[in-house]
Amino acid sequence: MKDIALYHGDRQGWVEVITGVMFSGKSEEMIRRVRRALIARRRVQVFKSDLDDRYAGVGRISSHDGSGVDAVPVRSSFEIAELVHPDTQVVAIDEVQFLDDGIVEVVEALADHGVRVIMAGTDMDFRGLPFGAMGGILATAESVDKLFAICVVCGNPATRNQRLVDGRPAPAESPTIQVGGAEEYEARCRRCHEVPAEDRAQTSLLDALASDPTDPLVLTHESLRVPPARSRPISR
Ligand SMILES: [Zn+2]
Repeated sequence: MKDIALYHGDRQGWVEVITGVMFSGKSEEMIRRVRRALIARRRVQVFKSDLDDRYAGVGRISSHDGSGVDAVPVRSSFEIAELVHPDTQVVAIDEVQFLDDGIVEVVEALADHGVRVIMAGTDMDFRGLPFGAMGGILATAESVDKLFAICVVCGNPATRNQRLVDGRPAPAESPTIQVGGAEEYEARCRRCHEVPAEDRAQTSLLDALASDPTDPLVLTHESLRVPPARSRPISR
């Protein structure tokens, strides 16, 4: 795996993210990396947002296959900053999308102090928009692995979290985080992902895409045959 190839040295700070849709195996991959760090005799601290208690309750990161590692539940990024021991070499954070925006600064500071930080979290909310601080996390990390699941509708690679309430797609107006709600989630592809919304901005954008472009510069295979001297300048 590339995290072995790129991460070297005892005190080389580093931020890596395991992201993607729900049911794509993010927790399994995080558990694998944590176990491997423990085998390498690294001192590891594992945290998870206390909003997530889907599988084993607070205090453990569990995967669908039943494996797991113990984790300290946290409510905020500041708690992580307070709880990391000076001798810790590896910090792992699961369900990181639930934490506040301050997490970007906290993990940057940890990496600057020589800590290897491993985070796992879903990158998009149920609407298909960046989830919480994930945009900043993904932009500042050294390494990003984006995992796919399988679309339950069509079987293609799934990248979206489909929220269902009473078996129906949840409207875009519903809250991003519904704690203890009766909703269910499915992994779906872009085409099968449904978010009923009365979003005017989105509608006008779709109208613009559907209308005739006024000055198209559309490249096709034929464009390759035009000699450079006669090709149309892109700008002046
Ligand atoms: Zn699909």
